[in-house]
Amino acid sequence: MALSEFNLIDRYFTRQIKQNNTVLGVGDDCALLTLEAGMQLAVTIDTLVENIHFFTDVTAETLGYKSLAVSLSDLAAMGAEPRNATLALTIPDVDEEWLQGFSDGFFELADQYHLDLIGGDTTRGPRSITIQAQGVVPHNQALLRSAAQIGDLIYVTGFIGDAGLALKAHLGVAQCNNFNILNRLHKPEPRVDAGLAIRNIANACVDISDGLAADLSHILHASQVGAVIDLAKLPLSEPVRHYQHQTSQPGFALTTGDDYELCFTVPSSREQDIELLSRDWSYQCTCIGRVDDSGSLTVLNNGQHFEITGNSYQHFS
Ligand code: ADP
Ligand code: MG
Repeated sequence: MALSEFNLIDRYFTRQIKQNNTVLGVGDDCALLTLEAGMQLAVTIDTLVENIHFFTDVTAETLGYKSLAVSLSDLAAMGAEPRNATLALTIPDVDEEWLQGFSDGFFELADQYHLDLIGGDTTRGPRSITIQAQGVVPHNQALLRSAAQIGDLIYVTGFIGDAGLALKAHLGVAQCNNFNILNRLHKPEPRVDAGLAIRNIANACVDISDGLAADLSHILHASQVGAVIDLAKLPLSEPVRHYQHQTSQPGFALTTGDDYELCFTVPSSREQDIELLSRDWSYQCTCIGRVDDSGSLTVLNNGQHFEITGNSYQHFS
């Protein structure tokens, strides 16, 4: 017998509350939260639609994990500490195996951050997942896109282009059987620790969801500045380096999305601080260029101006 909506919510989406600020979680008309004095609430929402944001063949577990990961990446990019999330789930039918997988993937990541799922909505229809996540950040310490300053150094965490290569491999148009690379598409690790650590050092920050060139340009536009970055300095994994070389696409990693690394700008006087901090991270942190007053992004390849080709994904264009 099919599970009722309420049994479903109870079985797969109701867990013990972990956060002190969660007064009331799943089960009432609203959840209730308290906010400590001196803190601001950072709120983000994202929707993943089947066949647009994910393939039909992706596992439920991957989907549960990734749909929360993209929201935590937004919180990381603001320097916010994850606290709670709500989940609006639309599914074509009650498939308990799928629900179990989705719930396992979701809570695998949620538990890493002691994040509470505090409510949501469950409806029947074409599969789609909307997650709203909330985090906290001390007053006026959030990392805004609009705060980059001329002269700032530009950093990127981890490697870029891995998820892009994994996507090509998934579509059968590139060869890659490196598990770590393939996993970067399905199980991105939101850089929450980096976002928190750079809060008092970085000026501006963005997470790389659409591609480095596009996302860095959001910072430049919002801050009314420009920048120069050097292709040779981009942090690339060996498989991506190889792919770029083999396909003569030196700028591949600039325009591929889904990496969920952070790109941030730092006053040059704080270079040492970033160097020291990033030693504690399990991924690298690389300076790729500098903010200037040019008003746009310039990419250099061996000292020559490099034309960016390949567009980041946009829904309504
Ligand atoms: P309402 O009719 O007041 O909107 P619902 O019947 O939709 O309430 O949901 C009952 C309770 O279960 C609410 O507290 C709601 O937040 C929660 N809920 C519904 N769907 C989910 C879900 N997928 N994940 C977590 N909580 C959910
Ligand atoms: Mg409802």
